[in-house]
Amino acid sequence: MTDTDDRPRFVADSMLGSLARWLRMLGYDTTYGKHLDDDEIARLASTENRHILTRDKELANRPGATYVEHDDLDSQLRLVCGDHGLLFDEEAIRCSACNGDLADVAKDEVSEQVPEGALESNDKFWRCEACGKIYWRGSHWLGILERFKKLNLA
Ligand SMILES: [Zn+2]
Repeated sequence: MTDTDDRPRFVADSMLGSLARWLRMLGYDTTYGKHLDDDEIARLASTENRHILTRDKELANRPGATYVEHDDLDSQLRLVCGDHGLLFDEEAIRCSACNGDLADVAKDEVSEQVPEGALESNDKFWRCEACGKIYWRGSHWLGILERFKKLNLA
């Protein structure tokens, strides 16, 4: 894990769940929740120093907010990563499900929790310190990495 204090952080509105998950996988702290209303998003932006990402024109008027007009994920990623100079940082990957920090975890600690195939073909595993989800670099991850490369983010 790297020190993430000086990296841009985000709060995404309820329309931008996919974008939020992909920003987390790129390594950027992104708060997102269907329960967040405009006031809560604005509060998080100011108290936690987060950039607002929104499809709501009114919310986009707030200082430092980005209006995300695109429907498709590639265009959304191009916009936000271009605006903020974001690049994939393997050391900073966050839990795509909950935005928690990932910590290295020993293979024998996860043997009960991951499929046998994943155990056989991987030596490195990570666990989300917030929700406990286990991660490894399987074929799914290679697809994600391909997308980062296609977008010139990796
Ligand atoms: Zn998590």
